[in-house]
Amino acid sequence: MTDCIFCRIARGEIPAEVVYEDDELIAFRDLNPQAPVHVLVIPRRHIATINDIEPGDAELAGRLYLAARKVAEAEGVAERGYRTVMNCNSEAGQSVYHIHMHILAGRAMQWPPG
Ligand code: 5GP
Ligand code: ZN
Repeated sequence: MTDCIFCRIARGEIPAEVVYEDDELIAFRDLNPQAPVHVLVIPRRHIATINDIEPGDAELAGRLYLAARKVAEAEGVAERGYRTVMNCNSEAGQSVYHIHMHILAGRAMQWPPG
């Protein structure tokens, strides 16, 4: 998926404010933040939606949460609280078809989500 915007961010072809990266994942600030802290964690490898996650990706999926934890700690919101969200397909509001975990924090969250 050479023209996927998040693949391009992962390759460094489009600038992003990276807050964490390792061999498999990269985390960067959302361009249109919905909270004082709004970071996206993505796998470097293109996976379009949650529906495309295979059994062999189980460790990768778990690593998304370990990265979220690291980001929350680094942003100083781990104890106050933060929300992780991954939207799947149009009715959930997915707009970029490369899986990404939203990390939202820094304000009180509402429930249920809109
Ligand atoms: P979704 O709606 O698919 O769950 O979330 C996509 C998110 O990606 C949105 O919050 C949007 O603001 C963010 N986004 C879209 N394009 C870019 C970009 O080029 N750079 C960054 N940093 N975020 C982006
Ligand atoms: Zn991609």
